[in-house]
Amino acid sequence: MPLLSALRRLGSKPVMQDWPGLIEAYRSWLPVSAATPVITLREGATPLIPAPVISERIGRSVKVFLKYDGLNPTGSFKDRGMTMAISKAREAGSEAVICASTGNTSASAAAYARRAGMRAFVLIPDGYVAQGKLAQALLYGAEVLAVKGNFDRALAIVREVADSYPITLVNSLNPFRLQGQKTAAFEVVDALGDAPDWLCIPVGNAGNISAYWMGFKEYKAAGRSRTLPRMMGFQAAGAAPMVLGHTVEQPDTIATAIRIGNPVNKENALKAQGESQGAFMAVTDAEIIEAYKLLGSGEGVFCEPASAASVAGLIKRREEVPIGATVVCVLTGNGLKDPDTAIENNDSKFHTGIDPDTATVAQVLGF
Ligand SMILES: *Cc1c(COP(=O)(O)O)cnc(C)c1O
Repeated sequence: MPLLSALRRLGSKPVMQDWPGLIEAYRSWLPVSAATPVITLREGATPLIPAPVISERIGRSVKVFLKYDGLNPTGSFKDRGMTMAISKAREAGSEAVICASTGNTSASAAAYARRAGMRAFVLIPDGYVAQGKLAQALLYGAEVLAVKGNFDRALAIVREVADSYPITLVNSLNPFRLQGQKTAAFEVVDALGDAPDWLCIPVGNAGNISAYWMGFKEYKAAGRSRTLPRMMGFQAAGAAPMVLGHTVEQPDTIATAIRIGNPVNKENALKAQGESQGAFMAVTDAEIIEAYKLLGSGEGVFCEPASAASVAGLIKRREEVPIGATVVCVLTGNGLKDPDTAIENNDSKFHTGIDPDTATVAQVLGF
């Protein structure tokens, strides 16, 4: 366990307090200079959690880990890209940023932009953003426009606005986003000591899978890992353009974070799939919810429905996993973002209207 002994050497001080955020931690790997003002909320350094229940479900002596990026400052991996995008926008003298968002990009853009003293404009598909994400964008002080159209339409609009006015686009078309996001791959390799055999990841706009692949390749080229993973990208069946090979005009899924029909990073993602001998596959909403519940009640990890697509996909394709393989499933967002889905989809017993006395409580408990 080289990591543990390294941590012990640091003494009894809580290590996490020294974490400077991912730009400082991985500065030499990122396009920043002494002139870049680092806008950080100490994002990154998220845990890689062993998943014994899911490992058991896969069988074949496979070891499954969860890269829980829902523990970033605004509750999703988008913070990795946003610390870079906003720092670089600030460096360039920008005073406002804009994005289209299924929710998490808007929350992250708002937090980092406001921390940098910039205005944040966010366009969201009216009625298709989880409550927690909307709450965040509003609380962080963004100017929120709910557009009567889907994500793909909102993105087309913000691209035009950013072309015509002095506003920086911070969707994953912004190359600094992927630069920041690639650090998640660095962290996985730093924790495991090598790349995993499979990297399972939900795919919406296909930026994150592209960023991970860039990170794994850079680390391998520098001798930090011996191997590269197969990139396994999972989409919701109702929003699976990478699987179908064409745009989906009316994407539809309970996993609103990946409700995207025309991924802007599809070329990069196809390259990742080809170079890594990976695959794009679809999982149904029912499979996503089953994995979501298993993560919660089996592993004690609460993620978003979109995030659970990575685990749903792994379970669906378990027969193809090599015996003894190490698999990392990326959990992209925190479950607290979307409490409605959790309350409507669980197998727990919820007894209401209980009389406030010990005898009644004991009886309900079955004693
Ligand atoms: C943005 C997001 C995704 C999809 O990532 P892409 O880079 O768009 O493929 C998946 N899950 C969550 C929770 C997200 O916020």
